[in-house]
Amino acid sequence: MSQNKQLNPYSWLSKNGNPFIISGPCSVETEEQVMVTAQAIAKSGRVNALRGGIWKPRTRPNSFEGMGTIALPWLKKAALETGLKAITEVAKPQHVEQCLKEGIDMLWIGARTTANPFSVQEIAEALKGVDIPVFVKNPIHLDLQLWIGAMERLWHAGITRIGAIHRGFAVGKPNRYRNQPLWEIPIELKRLYPNLILISDPSHISGNRDSIERLSQRALDLDFDGLMIESHYQPDKALSDAAQQITPEQLNGILNRLKYRRSSSVNLEFVHNLQTLRNEIDELDEELLHLLKKRIDVVEQIGDFKLKNNVTVFQLERWIEILKTRGELAIELGIDKEFIVEMMKTIHKESVRIQSELNKKHKIEQS
Ligand code: PEP
Ligand code: MN
Repeated sequence: MSQNKQLNPYSWLSKNGNPFIISGPCSVETEEQVMVTAQAIAKSGRVNALRGGIWKPRTRPNSFEGMGTIALPWLKKAALETGLKAITEVAKPQHVEQCLKEGIDMLWIGARTTANPFSVQEIAEALKGVDIPVFVKNPIHLDLQLWIGAMERLWHAGITRIGAIHRGFAVGKPNRYRNQPLWEIPIELKRLYPNLILISDPSHISGNRDSIERLSQRALDLDFDGLMIESHYQPDKALSDAAQQITPEQLNGILNRLKYRRSSSVNLEFVHNLQTLRNEIDELDEELLHLLKKRIDVVEQIGDFKLKNNVTVFQLERWIEILKTRGELAIELGIDKEFIVEMMKTIHKESVRIQSELNKKHKIEQS
């Protein structure tokens, strides 16, 4: 394949209308663990591939870094026994060689590796002349071009069965998720490459068990081709990512409850625009809440101040002034005045409550 050939992925994964489900432990720990987990997840009849990390790229040293090469045959054996495809992560050419030797069916490149073009290039070179499906996780940080670039390197090496795995992005600010989904990014990827196989990994997005079902449904609603969900027969004892792994029973429950919709009704342009606007709303709401918190802090300071100076919590003139000035500003900004007055009443009620609580606490402390 020539170096200049543009990435032109095709829809190589035949799913008969069903999403392609990859599941299994974060890390392969023992022969028994991967076998028991595989047998239990295969029972659902909905799982297609068995995942298991052999070499784990851990953020900090001294964490469990995977069992290494000795665990490869355990993964392969469990896959063979259950009729699932075996898939694991490769980060170096030696990993590729060992996986090929063991007959691993599919590979993925992890988020930390995708971010490094040197590593991806080395993996691509090691894969030259080999016909194996390779999935590429998005880089840890938000960089769509870097994600596409990694897939291009594989494409130029002659790998034609390429898939992308969306595992969320580290955005640096604390959030309810371990990694922010930023759905508009994979949607943009799909818009650019409509035939590219796109899978979502709700486990690494959420970082905990509670959000996996909701995130999975979201991915399916956005016309993703499949899901990668971490499962473990004893999640609490897992040596890596314990908080986000679910039992095979929980997995089967989720897979049974998910609503599988027809993808033809999805208008990508519409979904993309809607998602971008919703992200803006999310950001604005976050700002609003942070502002409210700041306001509450000042309300508490005023409460203290009133206490020390023996002044009543409720001050009629101040309240009248607030309603008047905020109402006028609402009109100036073209916002419905009644709405702003109602909102200010709610905020003021809460301020009075907070200051009255301070008063009560003060009295208790004095008695
Ligand atoms: C994993 O799949 O176990 C993993 C390490 O994921 P990521 O590369 O997305 O962090
Ligand atoms: Mn993991």
